[in-house]
Amino acid sequence: MAQIEEIETFLVDLPTIRPHVLSMATMHRQTIVVVRIRCSDGVVGIGEGTTIGGLSYGDESPEGIKLAIDTYIAPLLRTCDALQVASAMAAVDRFVVGNHFAKSAVETALLDALGKRVGLPVSELLGGRLRDELPVAWTLASGDTGKDIDEAEQMLSSRRHNIFKLKIGKRAIVADVAHVAAIKKALGDRASVRVDVNQAWDEASASRGLAMLEDAGVDLVEQPIARSNRAGLARIAVRSTVPIMADETLHGPEDAFDIACRGAAEVFAVKIAPSGGLRAAGRVAAIADAAGIGLYGGTMLEAGIGTIASAHLFATFPRLAWGTELFGPLLLTEEILVEPLSYGDFALKVPHKPGLGIELDEDRVAFFRRDRVVTRTYSA
Ligand SMILES: [Mg+2]
Repeated sequence: MAQIEEIETFLVDLPTIRPHVLSMATMHRQTIVVVRIRCSDGVVGIGEGTTIGGLSYGDESPEGIKLAIDTYIAPLLRTCDALQVASAMAAVDRFVVGNHFAKSAVETALLDALGKRVGLPVSELLGGRLRDELPVAWTLASGDTGKDIDEAEQMLSSRRHNIFKLKIGKRAIVADVAHVAAIKKALGDRASVRVDVNQAWDEASASRGLAMLEDAGVDLVEQPIARSNRAGLARIAVRSTVPIMADETLHGPEDAFDIACRGAAEVFAVKIAPSGGLRAAGRVAAIADAAGIGLYGGTMLEAGIGTIASAHLFATFPRLAWGTELFGPLLLTEEILVEPLSYGDFALKVPHKPGLGIELDEDRVAFFRRDRVVTRTYSA
């Protein structure tokens, strides 16, 4: 048995390389919740709980994630065996409803610790990896067509990304489609262009928008309407020849099963945090796979910890038809890992080291912590 001796949580605020314009928020920085679990055998595991735009994307905020862990989840884990991750998380599930992001962060830290303890990468703990690298899309969201084209050209020439997701839904449909069409026209067959509406349209707008996006050469449309309207999503999916991807409507295996039964999406954006953790996200993927639904490895724009945790899971998927969007750390101006994640040749490499296979740069993390204690020396 390894006792869970300490669970430390703190917020880290990291600037983004440019404003990231989404239909519901414009991000200038990203706030991540770091979880550090110290065990009685000396092993330390780290996890991350991160969302987008405070409370504008989902039900959990960074501050709320920290509070849920400190106040409710940590006391439950104090009596659990860190060697038994599933059992520890079941103990949490018995007394904590929902709070998927908080649970995902804690489970990640426990899996990192377990992997370090037994000398295996997290991907092997999750059933075994089937690939060592993952295709990575980039999101063009500067809000400006010319800037987005320049950014895409730069990504193509540096061989970093050849899949681009465009964030739309903030402007009128005609303006949004013109923006998408101009980018697709500039990039042609050199890149896959997809759009994410982030629930901004109603059903009628979606029908109209989808027909126009198809003409523009778009390969995939993500969450065009409200997450609650799965019946509408199913109607749109039947009418549209461009595949529909479920994102905000997908919060774990039960949702996955319902969406699959309704035929409401041809593709799932699988994400560890909204699913409720790595193992829950794995169950989402299994349901999709059994239902013939394509998989896409999604992101909550996590920094290095959450990104590589996701990568370990996605590396275990037998089929990953639509690649991933695990570019979170590349959107940040600051690196918080000792060794940055390895991006190149349009892919992210999954480390072979034990656990998550990463190490925090403690000085940088300390500097960007929201509760940083600033010591000033005043000269007399
Ligand atoms: Mg999305």
